[in-house]
Amino acid sequence: MSLPESARPATAAAQALGNVDPSTGAVVPAIHPATTYGRGPDNRLLSGRLYSRADNPNYDEPEALLTHLEKGAASAVFSSGMGAATAIFTALKPGDHVLVPNVIYWAFRSWLVGWATEWGLRVQSVDMSDPAKVAACVQPGKTKLVWVETPANPTLVVSDIAAIAEVAHRGGALLGVDSTFATPVHTQPISLGADLVMHSATKYLNGHSDVIAGSVTTRALTEHWERIRTVRVQSGTVLGPFEAWLLLRGMRTLFVRVPAQSRNAQRIAEHFAGHAGIEAVLYPGLPGFPGHDVAARQMRGGFGGMLSLRVKGGAPGALAFIGKLRVWKRATSLGGVESLAEHRASIEGPQSGTPQDLVRMSVGIEDAGDLISDLEQALA
Ligand SMILES: *Cc1c(COP(=O)(O)O)cnc(C)c1O
Repeated sequence: MSLPESARPATAAAQALGNVDPSTGAVVPAIHPATTYGRGPDNRLLSGRLYSRADNPNYDEPEALLTHLEKGAASAVFSSGMGAATAIFTALKPGDHVLVPNVIYWAFRSWLVGWATEWGLRVQSVDMSDPAKVAACVQPGKTKLVWVETPANPTLVVSDIAAIAEVAHRGGALLGVDSTFATPVHTQPISLGADLVMHSATKYLNGHSDVIAGSVTTRALTEHWERIRTVRVQSGTVLGPFEAWLLLRGMRTLFVRVPAQSRNAQRIAEHFAGHAGIEAVLYPGLPGFPGHDVAARQMRGGFGGMLSLRVKGGAPGALAFIGKLRVWKRATSLGGVESLAEHRASIEGPQSGTPQDLVRMSVGIEDAGDLISDLEQALA
């Protein structure tokens, strides 16, 4: 990093660590589509780089910035959040015991109970919001990884990273955190004791609903970390150079976008708490929300841009409500600058445990008044 060591995270992000292209002076990096790298007359690699499935120059800056923001030792970008999360688990060994939350991103749950279990991981779900229950499930020497997602998709359940880190470490397990909803703006899981932090960079890190990407940041350069990097190379879950370039561009505005999204979400949550058309507002920033105290401890400067509304009238009520929205778009995914609403149970299917009346809202950076009036007219 060419910035002073004292530079704060918002400065590091906006300046992309202060880098300037050394060969041209350009303040924005070039895109390197090359798949392969040359050798000199002595057959030595000219740059140390070999082939783009192993590494790409466009990874350097987003990985370095993530490592800086997450206060870790190293980072790796992946072709998706799923690519990043599954790499952490497949870097374990068949027979290893892992503890995962009972409220967790749906597609990842399907992979854990399906593929990962068939492949030989012993996957056990637990109420991750209660560290005592987690402690009771850790099998010392056998449990290799405890996985936290906080706030969790889609009911915003909050887990205490510091308390679970202690429980995991006491049993000899690593702690991995899916910090997609919290972002490095609000939470640094490694500072709270986590060993690995994963993001669906598709969401807030990129922030513009135009890149599928993932990342893992590690606290230390361990053997497990080397295996995670090897999984990326060997399974080929590599991010394209243009996507990596877009990701860095998105990350430069992270500290403007996310606080704005969190402020809007807080206003919406407060406005609709106790509203006649709403059964419940699920948002960690509301003092009455279970987990608010933990969230207030481990999230700084806001509670994130995700909230869920439980609408009166069950699934028909929720679907009628989103059908009337005119500003919010009806779409899955989250973390972009535009507000999105989704009837989550419809997409998760019949096996879903998500309440039928739940609408998941990804709050954007629009005018909060416009977002609130649109929701009001849709509830009327
Ligand atoms: C979207 C998401 C993922 C999966 O990421 P992709 O980039 O879609 O593969 C994982 N965890 C959470 C919390 C997510 O929201």
